[in-house]
Amino acid sequence: MIPAIADLLARGPVPLARVLQVAADHYYAAHEPFGPAGDFVTAPEISQMFGEVIGLWLADLWQRAGSPPAVHLAELGPGRGTLMADALRAIGRAAPPFAAAITLHLVERSPRLRAQQRQRLPDANWHDDLGTLPADAPLLLVANEFLDALPIAQFERVEDGWVMRRVERGPAGPRWDRSVGANLAFIPEPVRNAPVGAVHERSFAAEAVAAAVARRLADQGGAALFIDYGHAGPALGDTLQSLKGGQYADPLETLGEADISAHVDFTAIARAVAPHANVYGPEAQGMFLEGIGIGHRAESLKAMASIEARAEIAAAHARLVSVGAMGRLFQALAAVAPGWPAPAGFPKPAR
Ligand code: SAH
Repeated sequence: MIPAIADLLARGPVPLARVLQVAADHYYAAHEPFGPAGDFVTAPEISQMFGEVIGLWLADLWQRAGSPPAVHLAELGPGRGTLMADALRAIGRAAPPFAAAITLHLVERSPRLRAQQRQRLPDANWHDDLGTLPADAPLLLVANEFLDALPIAQFERVEDGWVMRRVERGPAGPRWDRSVGANLAFIPEPVRNAPVGAVHERSFAAEAVAAAVARRLADQGGAALFIDYGHAGPALGDTLQSLKGGQYADPLETLGEADISAHVDFTAIARAVAPHANVYGPEAQGMFLEGIGIGHRAESLKAMASIEARAEIAAAHARLVSVGAMGRLFQALAAVAPGWPAPAGFPKPAR
């Protein structure tokens, strides 16, 4: 057990969400999570095409919104800065007036990752959270695999009702505590009668981020794109997962030492956005990326590449869009300011 977790659990059981926050801060501050030698590989690290087509998606929306002369472009949890670097390169080539309108903002808590981001994106402004993003111009925001890293609460069905899962210090390490009853207001009707042992998850942190972003969109104009792995809710199931060196590990045994994430409940995210901004999606990542032209981008990259590089581009394209890989497990959801145009890549909302 790392000291930060030992200290946290020293005085008794702690709600899971708090434990996960401490674990994530420690993990991202101390470890190199990305890339072949790291614990997991994200879409922007698989291929430059991912960030490039997202950059062009933003440029298209900006143009159709009337080309506002100044915009704040922000990313939540930029990791190594790869997505944004690829997006800005594509924007610079395809839409110089948009590039000229952008002020760049990165929301990142890990000092170690900030240093990596600074190498690639020296002109960015850094923020600990959304609160300090400026509000004097429209906001365009992207967040890939950010919401899944935010803490979740877990509720578990027991014989006589529901409990809130907490973590306590056991003789052999951290273990579950089930001694506190759950507030039933947090357990949606459709899942309340689940069998003993069933788990219902909720990320109050992810919902709060989505709502805060949507309120800003209503105030200042703009749009946000959230991409993550997840499902429609309300759902049952324990999706907390821990990855260390590409292998699954026990989340409680590896607190702070492995990447911990959970499936995003896109129904809950949409519900948080809807009072303030228009919701598009969730749409499967594969459908979204094909809809905004990743296939064309793959073809033009292949046309300029060697034979081996062509095979790599084709493999990366397939990994991002195919149903058996990331194409369906991952979902895209856009939040768009009232009065702004519909974004590319999403079916028109049902009315
Ligand atoms: N978007 C990147 C990285 C995803 S990993 C990619 O796709 O490769 C999650 C990122 O979110 C990391 O940069 C991590 O440091 C950051 N992060 C996690 N929790 C955060 C929080 N509460 N506030 C700000 N950044 C956070």
